[in-house]
Amino acid sequence: MAPILAPAVPRRRELHPKPIFDEPSLRSFLTGHGAKTVHMGRIWRHVCTQLRCGVPPTAIELQEVPGLPQGLGPALAANFAVLTSTLLQTHVSELDGTMKLLIQLQDGSEVEAVVIHHTGEAEDPGQRQADRCGERDTLCVSSQVGCRLKCRFCATGTMGLLGNLWAGEIQEQLVHARMRKGHADSVCNVVFMGMGEPLENYEAVSSAVKGFVDPMRFGLAPSSLTVSTVGSSPQNMQRLLEELPKIRLAVSLHAPNQTLREELVPAAKAIPIDKLLAIVDDYAKRGEGKRLRTVMMSYVLLKDVNDSVLHARELSELLANKPVIVNLIPYNPFEGNVYGYEEPSPQTVDRFLQVLAEHNIRVFERRHHGRDIAAACGQLAKISKASPSHADIENCGVALNKELVRRKSSRLRETSNWQPWLVLGAFSVLVVSAAVYHRGRSAR
Ligand code: SAH
Repeated sequence: MAPILAPAVPRRRELHPKPIFDEPSLRSFLTGHGAKTVHMGRIWRHVCTQLRCGVPPTAIELQEVPGLPQGLGPALAANFAVLTSTLLQTHVSELDGTMKLLIQLQDGSEVEAVVIHHTGEAEDPGQRQADRCGERDTLCVSSQVGCRLKCRFCATGTMGLLGNLWAGEIQEQLVHARMRKGHADSVCNVVFMGMGEPLENYEAVSSAVKGFVDPMRFGLAPSSLTVSTVGSSPQNMQRLLEELPKIRLAVSLHAPNQTLREELVPAAKAIPIDKLLAIVDDYAKRGEGKRLRTVMMSYVLLKDVNDSVLHARELSELLANKPVIVNLIPYNPFEGNVYGYEEPSPQTVDRFLQVLAEHNIRVFERRHHGRDIAAACGQLAKISKASPSHADIENCGVALNKELVRRKSSRLRETSNWQPWLVLGAFSVLVVSAAVYHRGRSAR
């Protein structure tokens, strides 16, 4: 029987001081003080310029923002902070510098964010590689504390939903990441693949996306942002397409038909698979000129559940001629999974991939990248307290050398069952973006 979902609206988390990057809070503060909202840009520019100059957030004096109406500065400083969250721990990969950040929010809740460093080098120089488009960092952000959707194979779902992040708290994850990287303009890609279902916290997520692309704040390119969703709210998916048509979309599909999808992802009851794909089509058509946008379809492979040749054929038929690229994620087991899922063998994964490829579906698998990362990505806040085998968290990383990965994999398999799916998902988006970019370049 599918688990029963908790109510969609969790208890509101109150914050004081409020995050300066939180547009709704700053807007209502200014209007409440009879000031024009045009001052928001001035305030953010002041803060971001100081951050760029390496001034620590705690040393940035909000009362000194130039050009504010008389008396507003002290009130601003009394009500807002540049950072309302604290970086508790950082774990850096010994392989490539991938970093996992454990962040404590003002009310003590913990979320994590991951910075994946991509060197721009080919993983296997002997094969065609699409992931050569320069060195870059991608940040994977959390949008909720826990998650209410209870996808059967997901550890975050076992936490339930503890709260929604504010837009300002989501943006602060980028500030922490950049500070930790020691470079105010580093990390220019953001994926919403951390804890939570982004579209269940729509207002904050869309406001955070606007903050990330706002030239007065972080100035990222819209195409460098990806929102991943199971599609639990068709209305919010439509809203996302209308309001933020230029960002990238990833859909967590996980099954080739509605019945199996509902079993694995109880929230799928909210949207028939054909309606989900119609939204994907709609999104794809919003590409520039005649070029369709590509949507990433994530598919977690569970042994003897959704990994057979028949499932692969069914998936191929479902996705035929769709503007998608399938990201196969072999299941990462975690302590406390009551359904007893297992990871399929590499041969099963290869066979699944092959069937899709034979049907001309673009597909890739991220097995090795995930394997070397011993981080409980997306789950650290919970698991770090539950398990003593902490040492392996240090090995959070993405290797680009297959041999290294293989050696590391066998060692990790013996010592740990930490879950790397968050990094894996984020890394996949990176590769997809690179692939799309590469195709575009080759086409010219
Ligand atoms: N809620 C959103 C954002 C999370 S993204 C979504 O589902 O799209 C995290 C990705 O990792 C999702 O595709 C999720 O289904 C997948 N995932 C979760 N648990 C996993 C596990 N144990 N093994 C492999 N992938 C997993």
